[in-house]
Amino acid sequence: MKKKDDSEWSPEAANALRMLPPGSYKDYLRLFHSENPECQVSFKLFTRVWEESFSHLRIRQAGSQAMCTTCLKHKAIMKRLGSNQAALMAQSKLWGAHMKKQFSDRECYWNYRSLSRIGSDVDGQSTLTLIIDSMDHAKWSLPRTAVMAAKQFNNVVRPHMECCAVIAHGHLVAVAFAEHHIIKGADFTCELLVHVLHKLTQSGIDLRDFEVNIQSDNCTKETKNNSTLRLLAFLTSRRAIRRARMHYCMSGHSHEDIDQYFSLLGAFLSTQTELHNPQQFMDALKVYMGNESVRPNERMREVIKVEAVRDWKTWLMIGCRRNFLKGLGGPGAPHAFFFDRREDLTGWLVTFRGALNGLCGKQLSSCDKGR
Ligand SMILES: [Zn+2]
Repeated sequence: MKKKDDSEWSPEAANALRMLPPGSYKDYLRLFHSENPECQVSFKLFTRVWEESFSHLRIRQAGSQAMCTTCLKHKAIMKRLGSNQAALMAQSKLWGAHMKKQFSDRECYWNYRSLSRIGSDVDGQSTLTLIIDSMDHAKWSLPRTAVMAAKQFNNVVRPHMECCAVIAHGHLVAVAFAEHHIIKGADFTCELLVHVLHKLTQSGIDLRDFEVNIQSDNCTKETKNNSTLRLLAFLTSRRAIRRARMHYCMSGHSHEDIDQYFSLLGAFLSTQTELHNPQQFMDALKVYMGNESVRPNERMREVIKVEAVRDWKTWLMIGCRRNFLKGLGGPGAPHAFFFDRREDLTGWLVTFRGALNGLCGKQLSSCDKGR
């Protein structure tokens, strides 16, 4: 059977297609058998039903993104188990549990994304969801010209620019790029997030009433760090936003809609043969982002050339020195963080205090009241 890939993705088909994590039909058949042991079907029947009734489900190719280590381990073990059906079933169940976990994370993001497009949740609370990610810098080498294909330029190492994008679902797409001397770390992320929130405020959105959800991959250098979390804590405590939630996808399962946007952007840049300086990149991007068929839900578009970033890390470290988290990296680290003001959590605090009292068998001291 011919294997389909995600290169056929187009904005028109985005609503119909659903991409599954990299794997093979055989892998998914094993998962199906582990979930439904009473329903053992042949590979031929499985693929035929998939083609006929679930053709909107496509298996994403591994591509240039790093594969999930846990998935690779499970697949390697299953490969070695050969025809031992009982062991294969047990291993498939473990892999299935891992896949369910990553799917729950993504479902959570899709839910918040829908709420952001609608504008509010069922209780009428205003919600804004952003996703932030960086693009592979291979397409951002300078200069971009047909002359560089000449053999004598084979050994020329071209500097590359860094590109980062934010999609504020239902509102705005911002693509920021910077020359290679601008360090793309926590300061860059904070700068971009604050800029996007400022733009939204300028457009007439009162963020003080909004719950802001931010989705990101697991990159500790850019988003999963104390500076970004401190910024959200600061914005919440200063009442710039009502509350904040930061979600990180599981490592190796972070391919989301923003990566599809990067694929389209990369395909567009491939057609531009003569871009010699950052200004020409910017002009070309402005033309591309004027295309309203790409991400039609976000009417505001912005291309930003970042010339410098502020030292957010030091500023936030001084201002929020009591907020410090350890162990943010690694496979066992948490991947969801909530920021609320204490006065908004009265009911929750009572429940929490009651549960803690039950566990400790004594009343908590009153000194923590009102803190
Ligand atoms: Zn995995």
